[in-house]
Amino acid sequence: MNSHNYDYLDGNAAAGELSNIFTMDVTAAEGQCAHCGAIKRFAEAHLYMQAPGVVARCAVCEHVLLRFVKARQRAFLDLSGMTCLILDTSQLQQHA
Ligand SMILES: [Zn+2]
Repeated sequence: MNSHNYDYLDGNAAAGELSNIFTMDVTAAEGQCAHCGAIKRFAEAHLYMQAPGVVARCAVCEHVLLRFVKARQRAFLDLSGMTCLILDTSQLQQHA
């Protein structure tokens, strides 16, 4: 039994919140962790919803990749934990 309470969901749980901001599906994108350099699909990230907002952590090193907080009319998106986010633009043609 694990004594730590690491209750997280996977990155797919952020799809609803982030779809309000991004027109593309971010969970299908790949992000590079600024801490360990791992490139993983965002859907594989460990997602913590109990913080104020959403915190996504690297599945490899648990470094924070993304923070998303909504407060009244503003949304705060912190992507400083990712060196890059690689989006699949083939999705864009499907909307036409
Ligand atoms: Zn990492």
